[in-house]
Amino acid sequence: MSGVNLKGASEQLAFESISRPALHFIDGGFVESAEGGWFDTLNPTTNEVLTQVAEGTASDVDRAVEAAYRAFHEGPWGRMSAKERAKYLVRIADAIERHGEELARLEVADTGLPISQARGQAARAAENFRFFAEMATRMTGETFPVGDQFLNYAIRLPVGVAGLITPWNTPLMLATWKIAPCLAAGNTAVLKPAEWSPLTATKLAEIVQEVDLPPGVFNVVHGFGEVAGDALVKHPKVPLISFTGETNTGRIIMKNGADGLKRFSMELGGKSPVVVFADADLDRALDAVIFGVYSLNGERCTAGSRLLIQHSIREEFEERLTERVRRIRLGHPLDPTTEVGPLIHSEHKKRVEHYLEFGRREGATMAVGGEVPKELARGNFVRPTLFVNVRNDMRIAQEEIFGPVLVSIPFATEEEAIQLANGVQYGLAAYIWTRDLERAHRVARRIESGMAWINSQNVRDLRTPFGGMKQSGVGREGGHYSFEFYTEWKTVHVALEQHPIPRFGVSDVDAKS
Ligand code: NAD
Repeated sequence: MSGVNLKGASEQLAFESISRPALHFIDGGFVESAEGGWFDTLNPTTNEVLTQVAEGTASDVDRAVEAAYRAFHEGPWGRMSAKERAKYLVRIADAIERHGEELARLEVADTGLPISQARGQAARAAENFRFFAEMATRMTGETFPVGDQFLNYAIRLPVGVAGLITPWNTPLMLATWKIAPCLAAGNTAVLKPAEWSPLTATKLAEIVQEVDLPPGVFNVVHGFGEVAGDALVKHPKVPLISFTGETNTGRIIMKNGADGLKRFSMELGGKSPVVVFADADLDRALDAVIFGVYSLNGERCTAGSRLLIQHSIREEFEERLTERVRRIRLGHPLDPTTEVGPLIHSEHKKRVEHYLEFGRREGATMAVGGEVPKELARGNFVRPTLFVNVRNDMRIAQEEIFGPVLVSIPFATEEEAIQLANGVQYGLAAYIWTRDLERAHRVARRIESGMAWINSQNVRDLRTPFGGMKQSGVGREGGHYSFEFYTEWKTVHVALEQHPIPRFGVSDVDAKS
């Protein structure tokens, strides 16, 4: 029997009640929607209402953008030195750490992320602010001396108001991954969090208020993508849109922002391969394959959701995998021993279950999976699932499921592994397990993905470029690459001596004659 965790009813696992509704944060204050609308945010463990959330419309977005615009053009933020801005960012990081447990528990209540993983995400949110505070103070320009005649130099300037649109998976961590470099570079921001996970964004706004960030520098407008998100994308005073979410949504947003010639950063979907060659350290590969797809409830853009396994070790590896996946502890997300919690929303659960059905119908074998126990029936639980006998052309191998579902596809040769790895529309991450050094680098280079890990699980270094190829994204964030997006180059040309200037309009001939 699998490691199902049924302690959900015990008191120690009770969620705190959330007494206040989640409001917008505009111009330094918490406000209701101009049109008075509200929507519910649900607890995925029980499907009970956690609290009500202000439902933003175009007028709320407009208020927030105007506040951010004033803060940028009239306020101190854009003109402060990077060092001064960094001080605020460090204060935010400190406050996130002070409120870390509360943030983690809110994230668990709102998203179903297991508490042990939510704590890690809260710590990472603080780290994002600390990291970009430091990066901002290291931002350099460039000089281009031209002999004794000219000195040209290029400096980076903030752009203005950035629209930040985030998804519901690891919402706090992903929002701070955008907010921190955006503010560090001197821009102001309007965040539109995902409608299924609004709570940590509201708490973050409280933190921003606590550290006295100048009003208007950071704003939050809650609401639905097609209304509030859409208004932000189309707003004429928002030149930057940083979006993380589904590939299809990214397409719509780019079309909608095209008239305004906006600059986009697009972090989109993935269907990343984990390639395990016969000569790999199979114990470590097994641990990494399992963690890589089932952590964060499988709701992870860089999940290694397609296992490509070499024929000669397939049977043994799949057997070991089956045994381990069966024992993954599915259960109450506040229990520190839980490994997989409920999915974000009942609609998403249905979507994932449709894929389980597609898999069966297409002829794949469900080696692990099936019904969840009655005790978990109220929540959006899906049992960690493994499909074997999968072909790369099946829907479960091609489409992003975004749940705890792994598909295993065999390959014979290195060339075949590369063809299979590249045979999807996505290109976000890849994981390669082999002891053959030359092959490892060769394969890493040839797989079409923005990032590849060799003999490693997904360990991130915040300095490296993060993003996807193909339909997984446009642009890179992370390290100084984030500043490519959040700043504008200004080139200044300075004459150092009396260089020749061609003289028009000095001839004796009258132009009219
Ligand atoms: P989603 O695309 O449904 O929504 C993301 C955000 O966009 C939400 O805030 C939503 O309200 C908003 N939105 C929706 N329609 C909009 C519109 N027309 N205009 C403006 N905003 C709109 O994505 P999701 O379901 O919340 O998140 C899951 C997806 O995110 C997965 O595909 C996952 O791979 C992807 N993701 C990618 C990365 C990455 O870095 N590449 C990271 C995390 C998640």
